[in-house]
Amino acid sequence: MSRRMIIAGNWKMNKPPSQAAEFIRQLVPLVADAEAEVVCCVPAIDIVPAVEAAKGSNIRIGAENMYFEEKGAYTGEIAPDMLVDAGVSHVILGHSERREYFAETDEMVNRKVKAAFAHGLIPIICCGETLKQREQGITIDWIRQQIKIAFQDITPEQAAAAVIAYEPIWAIGTGKVATSGQAQEVCHAIRQLMGELYGPEVAEQVRIQYGGSVAPANAAELFSQPDIDGGLVGGASLKPDFGQIVHWK
Ligand code: PEP
Repeated sequence: MSRRMIIAGNWKMNKPPSQAAEFIRQLVPLVADAEAEVVCCVPAIDIVPAVEAAKGSNIRIGAENMYFEEKGAYTGEIAPDMLVDAGVSHVILGHSERREYFAETDEMVNRKVKAAFAHGLIPIICCGETLKQREQGITIDWIRQQIKIAFQDITPEQAAAAVIAYEPIWAIGTGKVATSGQAQEVCHAIRQLMGELYGPEVAEQVRIQYGGSVAPANAAELFSQPDIDGGLVGGASLKPDFGQIVHWK
């Protein structure tokens, strides 16, 4: 079977609601005939206007984070059901910025992955090594550990529907993109691990993105690697460039 490519934007903490709607409207014609699945993951406050602006188009709206509890006294957090109610289809979980600045652990990511699936949301599960870890030669071991914990108690059906984003931390927002060989090596190792955990069918179905300074100039080379099924795009997803990345071929 062939996997459908998935290109997702991660707006991070950019664009107020008024600009969000305007930008989505600008993007609609630029990605209308895309072969790949197109997702824009936007700040929580942008979700409602972005969903409204994307109506009738092939752009799906995702969230950048969520909490794992159903509801209650968790000031400032957003529940899975709230995202679903607002029209969200995907949610980024375990982004390295959340791990670094908001103390998210692998165990929290696992709880969030379980909550996402319980509510019919597709998680985009992030993993990635620091430059120091790469230099120490422990990249694959580190990524395997992150993925093993993220997928604890996740069923094979759920695992097959998941999206994994391999994002080397040293390549995020730095303009220092991984070589296609480096990205392919790790994405292949992730697919191999999914095979060990769930068998060959799930390994064949799960989609694995590369993220880290993806731009129109490097997308084709990265996305043509056999184990890379698209990208998670930060900076370049804030500009019409995103349309070019979606048409990477
Ligand atoms: C990201 O934050 O997920 C990302 C990959 O950012 P950038 O494309 O800007 O490196």
